[in-house]
Amino acid sequence: MIVILKPHSDPEQLNSLIAWLEGKGITTHLSMGEDHAILDLMGDTAQLDADLIAALDIVEDVKRVREPYKKASRKFHPEDTVVQVGNTQIGGGSLTIMAGPCSVESEEQVVAIAKAVKASGATMLRGGAFKPRTSPYSFQGLGAKGLEYLKAARQETGLPIVSELMDISQLPLFRDVDVIQIGARSMQNFDLLKAVGRQEKPVMIKRGLCATYEEWLMSAEYVMAGGNSNVILCERGIRTYENYTRNTLDLTAVPVLRKLTHLPIIVDPSHATGKSALVDPLSMAAVAAGCDGLLIEVHNDPAHALCDGPQSLRPEVFDALAKKLFKLHAAVAELNG
Ligand code: PEP
Ligand code: MN
Repeated sequence: MIVILKPHSDPEQLNSLIAWLEGKGITTHLSMGEDHAILDLMGDTAQLDADLIAALDIVEDVKRVREPYKKASRKFHPEDTVVQVGNTQIGGGSLTIMAGPCSVESEEQVVAIAKAVKASGATMLRGGAFKPRTSPYSFQGLGAKGLEYLKAARQETGLPIVSELMDISQLPLFRDVDVIQIGARSMQNFDLLKAVGRQEKPVMIKRGLCATYEEWLMSAEYVMAGGNSNVILCERGIRTYENYTRNTLDLTAVPVLRKLTHLPIIVDPSHATGKSALVDPLSMAAVAAGCDGLLIEVHNDPAHALCDGPQSLRPEVFDALAKKLFKLHAAVAELNG
């Protein structure tokens, strides 16, 4: 971190800033310019609040030269993280396809969809039991019963399950869920992030509707700081001025995150677009961009789905897409060497 001081800053205030920083274990180096002095900070600067320092009378500007996240940063962990989930892996060159309904509606529904997506090559089953809905009058999910039905579908198909945790109080119910999803709306629920950081199950963090890459990676850092390094990131579209689609899929996130972090990157074209017809081209684009996997909503009767029907693929449409995705993934791997 570099602190640029105002011209002719008061030496007493400068000394007290240096003493305060050194008290925090930071080493400082002062370079005097013509009229500006620059204070170079070395050590664990992630603990420092740059805005707080910038607000001091003697400070003109503060520049971070290192990201505020450490455990999630590729600089400190150059190798890709591979998250083991049951007998499947997320990251490390494989293509993970998480597929299933938006919400678990009944045991029959989720078992039937699980069997279909498994036959098409999906590697994980998704399904919401606790649903974050914009309206309190919309279907809120089957709760604990929904998780039981997901487990029944896992029992039938062997597919590991991923489901959204909305509140710390639900955590005991997720003991037997394979991947805990933190939804876009909870990305900055810091108590929830701390709670999933204290346990060992893999955690998939969806990008918040208005979150920057850095804010998203800081959420990953929360989980990792608690001791859980099994973190997966999921780009699910962000809010922009465009309202033709539900959100705007930010595929730039894939190569940018690849550079900034070692964590696996999943793309969700279903929530990004809200339209089933757009799921095929954007899934293909996400694989071409180099993602580690996709999250795709599949429903056996989208017209009657209790949640997100318009963006859900019928099993036969998903089947045709999955075949193309595996072929494309192999071709992309070959082209990229
Ligand atoms: C979901 O995956 O069902 C979901 C609610 O997604 P998001 O948090 O991305 O809106
Ligand atoms: Mn959904």
